[in-house]
Amino acid sequence: MTVAEERIERLAELARAAARGGEDDRARYYVRLARRVAERNRLVLPRKFRRFTCDDCDAYLRPGRNARVRLRDGHVVITCDCRAQARYPYIDG
Ligand SMILES: [Zn+2]
Repeated sequence: MTVAEERIERLAELARAAARGGEDDRARYYVRLARRVAERNRLVLPRKFRRFTCDDCDAYLRPGRNARVRLRDGHVVITCDCRAQARYPYIDG
């Protein structure tokens, strides 16, 4: 694992912890930092990170709290509180 990858992992953890504590703005800050590190190092963000962050507002998504999850046509549809939607195939590892 490279230093950048470790940094992203760490930021993802921080974002998750902040979101869990109800500190949405702080979570967003960590999400943005992680995205920036990935961009600068031309890394792809881990799948888990991509799934649980909003592309539009950078929120760290917590289904049931700031996001809704629906299953539709073999897809998982996640709707953020900002109304942005993301779709993923249901069976995808
Ligand atoms: Zn959003």
